[in-house]
Amino acid sequence: MDISIVVPLYNEDESLPHLAEWIDRVMNEHGFSYEVIMVDDGSKDSSWAVIESLRAKNPCYKGVKFRRNYGKSAALNVGFGHAQGDVVITMDADLQDSPDEVPELYRMIKEEGYDLVSGWKKKRYDSKLAKNIPSKFFNWTTRKMSGIKLHDFNCGLKAYRRDVVKSIEVYGEMHRYIPVIAKWAGFSNIGEKVVQHRKREFGVTKFGLNRFVNGYLDLMSIMFMSKFGKQPMHFFGLVGSFSFLFGFVALIAVIIMRLCGSIHLTTSVWFYLSMLFLVLGAMLFLAGFLGELICRNSTTRNNYLIEKELVD
Ligand code: UDP
Ligand code: MG
Repeated sequence: MDISIVVPLYNEDESLPHLAEWIDRVMNEHGFSYEVIMVDDGSKDSSWAVIESLRAKNPCYKGVKFRRNYGKSAALNVGFGHAQGDVVITMDADLQDSPDEVPELYRMIKEEGYDLVSGWKKKRYDSKLAKNIPSKFFNWTTRKMSGIKLHDFNCGLKAYRRDVVKSIEVYGEMHRYIPVIAKWAGFSNIGEKVVQHRKREFGVTKFGLNRFVNGYLDLMSIMFMSKFGKQPMHFFGLVGSFSFLFGFVALIAVIIMRLCGSIHLTTSVWFYLSMLFLVLGAMLFLAGFLGELICRNSTTRNNYLIEKELVD
């Protein structure tokens, strides 16, 4: 199979028939063998009924329905699990992403050898204040922190080599950072393609302003997990050691100053600082040890992504 299209959707019953018709047209024009995996993220409208009727007409359509709303990341993760095509495309259900982009994305993965190609909504048809300006800032930070040169990390339209989606796990609100997750999993050939963006025709946006707070916390988690996830002591131990060392030196200085009679212990700021940093250092160390204990008992402690193997 050439292409799997994964569509996460939440209350998009009006858009779905149009989307399906458009996808079918593009796929048939180019003669691709394909499947469309629609993951209904606990919709309250008739989205699932629409998916059932699409499936009845065309067995290329597959559907998964969540019992409740788990979020776009969860929907993508489940879709990725089912995908069988050589190239996996993700696309929003709201008709803001154009299926006409799929053939070129497919070509970039197949012929130019990219692991992942992200869409770039260069001209965006969303509210300026709520989306465009905050997203510029968000993309800039993510670029700086991850070292990946993408303009639009959060674009719903992306293409992946199948290996990539089978090797990564997306949860929480992490769908915004899939390129970062992919890079840390060893897929560093990441490309970008300017894509057409359209106005939302039906329904309303599902993401409010709280996504920015959560977004940054998730970025922190990802950076931390990828650097220190398997060896927390390397982080806590280092910071803890510095803190302890600083506290210790300050304590020696306080003792010497006290012996020389130049200070009163309880009025010296250095006394309090030495206490603070000694205790902080010990606590960070302890956090590191606890982290190591948790890692040691985790069932995934020895899960590594293996690209090739020559064993009999
Ligand atoms: N979506 C989802 N689960 C959610 C929220 C959104 O599956 O909890 C889907 C939604 O139906 C759409 C896509 O994710 O297909 C992008 O959502 P939306 O268009 O609301 O985001 P925006 O384009 O406004 O950033
Ligand atoms: Mg949208």
